[in-house]
Amino acid sequence: MEDENVAYNRIWLGWVGSVLLCGAACWAQEDEPPSITVFVNNSVGIDQAVFRHAENEAAGLFRRGGIEVHWRNCAETSDCRRPPCSNEFVLHIVPNGRTGSDFVFGEAFLGPDGRGRYADVFFNRLRDAQGSLSIAQLLGAVFAHELGHLLLGSRAHTLMGIMQPIWRQEALRRIAMGNLTFTPEQQRMMKDRLPSETVAVTSIAGRGRLGLQ
Ligand SMILES: [Zn+2]
Repeated sequence: MEDENVAYNRIWLGWVGSVLLCGAACWAQEDEPPSITVFVNNSVGIDQAVFRHAENEAAGLFRRGGIEVHWRNCAETSDCRRPPCSNEFVLHIVPNGRTGSDFVFGEAFLGPDGRGRYADVFFNRLRDAQGSLSIAQLLGAVFAHELGHLLLGSRAHTLMGIMQPIWRQEALRRIAMGNLTFTPEQQRMMKDRLPSETVAVTSIAGRGRLGLQ
């Protein structure tokens, strides 16, 4: 009987320890400006220089809205194996999308509350459609668009700016110039939705897609 109690206590303490460990992993210092951390799982072996360029393009769009983006490569951190915290997001770069037409380049997975942590980017479709754009510019714009879904929710699409559901020639021209941005309203909404305190979260279900014509 005594042994059973000892075993029970160990399980209980182990569970508490796990919760505390998760809390510690999710802890973030209050910083100014507000920031998000994006874990990138690169399953297509994109060249690191291209990747850095794409990340800088996307980060620049968020910086205009007063949000800093910290990038983490899943190949270099075990943090990708734990659930993301409230200010953390995961981009998975995969060769091809499982759903949608060839002109759908990304998909964000949103919960019933319109919030999400995970998005896929379909690299081969981007590469095949890049035209005169550099792949880094297009990739960076898609990173920003899908992260926009995760921060803005299911009604994130607009007629103007980076959250247009379909990018036509004018949008592509502005991506090339680096000025297809979030609208001022979207910038404000994203900052408002960022948590003031970093906590562990759960989510998933629902989608937001991006196409190009
Ligand atoms: Zn979209």
